[in-house]
Amino acid sequence: MSELLDPVHLPWVAALFGLFVGSFLCVVVHRYPIADQTPSSPRRSSCPACGHELAWWENIPVLSWVLLGRRCRACRVVIPMRYPLMELLTGAAWGVTALVTPEGDHLLLAIHLLVVSGLLTATFVDLDCFEIPDSVSIGGMVLAPIAALAAPALHSHTWLAQEVSGGLEVTRTGSLVASLGGMLVGGGVLLLVGRLGARAYGRDAMGLGDVKLLAAGGGFVGPGGVLVALLLASLTASAMGVGNLLRYYCLIRGRDRSRGRERAPGRAWRTARVLSQYLPFGPHLALGVALAMLYWEPHLRAWFLGA
Ligand SMILES: [Zn+2]
Repeated sequence: MSELLDPVHLPWVAALFGLFVGSFLCVVVHRYPIADQTPSSPRRSSCPACGHELAWWENIPVLSWVLLGRRCRACRVVIPMRYPLMELLTGAAWGVTALVTPEGDHLLLAIHLLVVSGLLTATFVDLDCFEIPDSVSIGGMVLAPIAALAAPALHSHTWLAQEVSGGLEVTRTGSLVASLGGMLVGGGVLLLVGRLGARAYGRDAMGLGDVKLLAAGGGFVGPGGVLVALLLASLTASAMGVGNLLRYYCLIRGRDRSRGRERAPGRAWRTARVLSQYLPFGPHLALGVALAMLYWEPHLRAWFLGA
C-alpha cells in the first residue's frame, strides 16, 4: 500500500483511479437532465438506445470502448467518442494533480482531487446543458471553509492567509479567513461584472451558476487566486470566442456562396456574432480555478508578479 503512495508511483495510481472517476462522471453528466434518474439510481448503467444493462467488463473505462469496437454489444449503436475522452481527461487531470501537489500531504491531495473532480463535473454539465449543478457550486462553498480549517496548507501561498497568520506559517484562522475572503471576492466580482454587462448590453451577461462556481472556487484559491482564475478564464474564453466567431462567419459565407447568393459581409458578420454568443463560461472558470489552485506556486506567481 505504502508503495502505491510513493511519490514516483502516486501520479500513475491517481491517473488510473481518475479513469474510473471519469467513468462515474459520464454517468453523472448523462443522467443530470433526466428527471427520474440520479447518479446512484438505477444501480447499473445501460445503453441509452436499447436499455441493455452493461456487464462489469463492458464498463471498464476506455478499454471496454475499444474492445467493444465502439458499439453497444446488444444493438450495435455507436457509443460516442466523448465518453472515453471524458474518462481520459479525468484520468489525466488526476495524474497531473497528484504530480504537482506537494509531496507527502495526502489530505491536501485529497482536497485537490475533490475540487478538480467537481470542476470537471461543472465543465461537462455546462457544455451539455448550459447549467452548472448546485451540488458542485453550493457544495463547493460549503466544503471550502471546512477544507481550509482541516488543511491550512491549502492557503499556504495566499497573501491574506499569511497576513492574518502573522508569518509564513499559515494558521487555521488565516486559512479560514482566506477561504471566506476568496468566496466573497469570487462571487462579488462576477456579480458586479454581470450587473455592468446587463446594463451595457441589456441582457444577462453572466449566469448565476457562473457566480456561484467562482465563489466556490474562491474558497479554495483565496481572493488573489480567484482574480487570477477569472483573468485566465477571460483570456481563454476570448480566444475561443474569437475562434468561434470566425468559424461561424466562414460557415455563413460558405453556405451563402454554395447557394449562389451573397449577403453583405457586414450582415454575415452580425449573424455570426449572434450565433457565437452562446458559449458557456463555466468550463473557462473551471480551468482558471484549477490552474490558480495547482500552478500558482511557482509558475503563475512568476508570470503575474515577476518574482
Ligand atoms: Zn444498445
